[in-house]
Amino acid sequence: SETKRSFKRVVLKLSGEALREVGSQDNISPEIVERIALEIKEAHAAGVEIAIVVGGGNFWRGASASARGMDRATADYVGMMATVMNALAVQSAIEVEGVPCVVQSAIEMKNVAEPFIRRKANRHLSEGTIVIFAAGTGSPFFSTDTTAALRASEMGACAILKATMVDGVYNADPKLDPNATRYETISFKRCLSDELAVMDSTAFSLCQDNNIPIIIFDLNEHGNITNAIKGADIGTLVSN
Ligand code: UDP
Repeated sequence: SETKRSFKRVVLKLSGEALREVGSQDNISPEIVERIALEIKEAHAAGVEIAIVVGGGNFWRGASASARGMDRATADYVGMMATVMNALAVQSAIEVEGVPCVVQSAIEMKNVAEPFIRRKANRHLSEGTIVIFAAGTGSPFFSTDTTAALRASEMGACAILKATMVDGVYNADPKLDPNATRYETISFKRCLSDELAVMDSTAFSLCQDNNIPIIIFDLNEHGNITNAIKGADIGTLVSN
């Protein structure tokens, strides 16, 4: 598809599940991480400043553990630790491709990652270094989607690119309704009035209030990560 958008700086949101091979016992697939890194390298070469927020759902989700009896805040800290493992795996693969990449963790872990310091992250990004934001917001009861919304807001990103298992936002569940159609663009307001869940409500309202567009696209289609970062007209654009 033709390039219509042009981003100076983006936040790419990778869910933990994006790093796992469907049906595999391994939480992280080195082959998939390598593929993602190659796609990021290609987009980076086009000059876009790239920040990445990684999830941890391939290892652990605080809410699920809490539903099974664990203290929620503790379960959430476990989830945040899981995102650090994913961040290191993605960093390593990006560096193998010769692209500079740092991990900044919202929970201090000096031996493996820089602490999150907004002004340092800004400097890294301006210099063309990719920054992976690990450990979510550093606080329980939040998600990594909310982290992406927060970091995109404070780092002045043009958009959040959310790589998911579906190719966009539909007017109905495409798995249940054969007539479901995909939106190319949709407003935050319309998502709310039609009860279309794009992100959790905290993440969603941060994006809406701070005017951060979200692009939802299919991560399984090869080339999509590169194309999304380079501004191709793919997936669904959610904006004000
Ligand atoms: N988490 C948290 N605070 C944050 C971000 C994440 O407590 O700011 C925890 C939460 O338990 C969550 C887990 O980390 O379930 C993994 O993140 P998430 O579920 O967002 O990962 P994804 O679904 O993107 O893989």
